[in-house]
Amino acid sequence: NKMVVLKRHVTGFPMEEDMEVVVGAVGLRVPAGSSTPAVLVKNLYLSCDPWMRGRMSKHDEGATAPAPDFVIGETMENYGVGKVIDSTHPEFKSGDLVWGMSGWEEYTLVYQPESLIKINHTELPLSYYTGVLGMTGLTAYAGVMEVGRPKRGDFVFVSAASGAVGQVAGQLAKIAGCYVVGSAGSDEKVDLLKTKFGFDDAFNYKSETDFAAALKRCLPDGIDIYFDNVGGATLDAALLHMRHGGRVVVCGMISQYNLEEPDGLRNMLCIIPKAVRVEGFNVAGYFHMYSRFEEEMARYIKEGKIAVVEDVVEGIESAPVALVGLFSGRNLGKQLVALARE
Ligand code: NDP
Repeated sequence: NKMVVLKRHVTGFPMEEDMEVVVGAVGLRVPAGSSTPAVLVKNLYLSCDPWMRGRMSKHDEGATAPAPDFVIGETMENYGVGKVIDSTHPEFKSGDLVWGMSGWEEYTLVYQPESLIKINHTELPLSYYTGVLGMTGLTAYAGVMEVGRPKRGDFVFVSAASGAVGQVAGQLAKIAGCYVVGSAGSDEKVDLLKTKFGFDDAFNYKSETDFAAALKRCLPDGIDIYFDNVGGATLDAALLHMRHGGRVVVCGMISQYNLEEPDGLRNMLCIIPKAVRVEGFNVAGYFHMYSRFEEEMARYIKEGKIAVVEDVVEGIESAPVALVGLFSGRNLGKQLVALARE
């Protein structure tokens, strides 16, 4: 069983060398206090997600962390798609296709199978359950529909717009009848936003560094909803440009994850006279709506209303470099690792 283990805790930008692919036995880690039954899963696709970076640091006791730190020398974990090989749990049987939290390895013994979700739409590509039909799709759906609550005609701005969450968030806002603008880090990504994902406008924030001017040009009447994936200077510029009663959906702040000291925001004061609602959310609080979401999203995909772009690397050896690439924008679309097709 090949697995990706954390070699050392990370400060600053993560590097491929912070991780190592080793060979070990399946299911060596029995969580304390857990009981059987368990499910043995063959991992088909592993998802690469920015939040894994938080778990690669060593947090001080009592510090705010998204989830427990990864342990040096132990298999990393994240969402993935897999096939049940063996099961002593009454709700899972050999051959079931599932997605959920799994190890960054070829086979995982899952001791809390209740966290696994059975895949209903096997007629769609299974890899979609790492993204558009999985955690990042649900994130976009919850952020746009539940937190942003778009109205027809709203002006919407999405950052990291070509990525896993951003591409879905922008397209959902289009379905809701909004005018949607995205920012991304290359001309190729900007092109994708306008041609493949149907954004009304987009700009490359790496070549156009005056974000305030770019926003003014693309959204001359201001922003009703800013779906923030990056934080920092982009958020600061968007705050200046919000319309009265606007909403900032704080999904992520990837520009801050590798900094020792977060970038200061200068324009927070704007939210008072403009009565802007700034609201963070965690997808973990929205899994109760997963079934509804899965049906709606599968329908949009089949109707051609939601397009999907994935960046697939092959083999577990490619996982570390793919994960690290999220922080330089190497990925074009949802980043995932294919281990096996069946
Ligand atoms: P993406 O697929 O969008 O990949 C990350 C992208 O972020 C890169 O491709 C890059 O795109 C962009 N990026 C990287 N560094 C910077 C930087 N310094 N400044 C601006 N952009 C940068 O990732 P996801 O869609 O999976 O995640 C998007 C955001 O959503 C993240 O912040 C993530 O933490 C958050 N998230 C939040 C959840 C929640 O529950 N609230 C759940 C899941 C994700 P580019 O080339 O355009 O710069």
